[in-house]
Order: sequence, then structure tokens, then C-alpha cells
Amino acid sequence: ETAPAFLSVWDMHAYYGESYIVQGIDFNVHEGEILALLGRNGAGKTTTLRALARLDDPQVTHGEIWLDHQPLHQMKAHEAATKGGLGLVPEDRRIISGLTVEENLKLAQIAPPVGWSLERLYELFPRLGERRKQDGVTLSGGEQQMLAIARALARDIKVLLLDEPYEGLAPVIVDEIEKTLHTVKAQGMTTILVEQNAVRALQLADRAVILDTGAIVFDGSAAEVLGDEQLRAEYLAI
Ligand code: ATP
Repeated sequence: ETAPAFLSVWDMHAYYGESYIVQGIDFNVHEGEILALLGRNGAGKTTTLRALARLDDPQVTHGEIWLDHQPLHQMKAHEAATKGGLGLVPEDRRIISGLTVEENLKLAQIAPPVGWSLERLYELFPRLGERRKQDGVTLSGGEQQMLAIARALARDIKVLLLDEPYEGLAPVIVDEIEKTLHTVKAQGMTTILVEQNAVRALQLADRAVILDTGAIVFDGSAAEVLGDEQLRAEYLAI
């Protein structure tokens, strides 16, 4: 028998009310890799991330989620985020208004165990260091995305879950965030990256899982997807 993967999802099904969205998916994520979770609009990517993070919606009716030998499927969102070690960066970023950049980060470090230090976070995102006294909501979109990622890393997490981090950002800012995600990976972090910008995501990722109407239609290397014109056209429209 082989060792279980770092993160394993087994036969997960998820609903929003009566709507059956995630229709029994299995996938693994290996420690230290970047997995791109791709698929068309409405394929179920965000729903999958929310299900992993154990948020109240969607309702996960079946399946198991194991992270580093811990049964996440038995945890509520708060426990999954703390003890479980999931760091979800939602699409809307959720920067807290009235708090400076530094206060946003310190708030994430209020309860131990603490993840990356402020010093290390500012080294990763020098722009955040320069703006540490600025109200978080007055940052540009790209800077807010950086703050949302930094805030996740400020906690002691095992997996970073990114929901469309490149959305609405200029290509040069995407370059900058891509570079930092590469650095974060080099320091051992495991990442699941949901992105509409599939080409950019595949260039960064080690592996890819492609969803189509809540089912997995591809699980393999990112390079394989980039090289498969039919797969790209059929499921990613690229
Ligand atoms: P996108 O890139 O458009 O966000 P996605 O792959 O992330 O696509 P999901 O957001 O997971 O897709 O949505 C999957 C399906 O679930 C869609 O049909 C969507 O309309 C539906 N859905 C999402 N959120 C809810 C909700 N809160 N209540 C009911 N249905 C929902």
C-alpha cells in the first residue's frame, strides 16, 4: 500500500440546496506542489474550494477529505482553518476596512500557532511593507490580493487555497503575484489554484485537475494540458 497523499479528496459530493454541484470527485494533492483546479464557468471550482474549507455552503453530503492525516470532513470551517491548516483566499478578498495592512496581518496572527512572520511577509511582498500603515481597503486590487495571500500565510497553514487570484488584475501585477506564488512554493507550501486564466495557471502549476459539470475530466501534469489542444479547446476554451 502506498502512503496517503498529503491532501486526499475521496468521493466528495456537494449541493447548494437542491442543486447537485460537485458530483463525486476524487483527487490528491502532493506536499509542496501547486495544483491548478480548472474548468469553465460554473464547472464547480469555487464550490470545491468552499467544500474543502468546510464552509456552511455548499452542503457536503458524502465523501472524505484528509489533510496530513487529519479528517477535515469531520471539522467545521473554523477548525479546518485552525487545526486543519487550510488557508482559503476567497475571490472577494475580504480585507477588513478601518484596519491598516499591518493590523490585518496581526489580526491573522492573534491566535497561535502563527505562520510567517511580518518580516518574512514583507520580504515576500515589499509593496505591503511600504504600505503597512495604509488602510487595507484603500490598496489597489493587486495589493489587496497580495494582502489576502499574506494574511493566509500569517497563520500556520498547510495548504493555500486561492480562488481566482489574478481576476481583474493587470498583467504586470499578475506577473508579480505569480512570482511570489513560486517563492511560496519554493519554501514548501502546498497550493490549490483556481483560475479562469488557465494558461497562466498551467504555466505555474505542477499538476492540473479539470472539472466539467462537477466531475473530474482530467487529472495529470500541467504540461500535458498545455500540450493537448483538444483538451484545452473542449474544457478550457484556450
Ligand atoms: P466560476 O468561475 O464562474 O466561479 P466555478 O467553476 O467556480 O465557476 P462554482 O462557483 O463552483 O463554479 O459554481 C458551480 C455551480 O453552482 C454554478 O452552476 C452556480 O450557479 C452554482 N452555485 C454557486 N453558488 C451557489 C449558491 N450559493 N447557491 C446556489 N447555486 C450556486
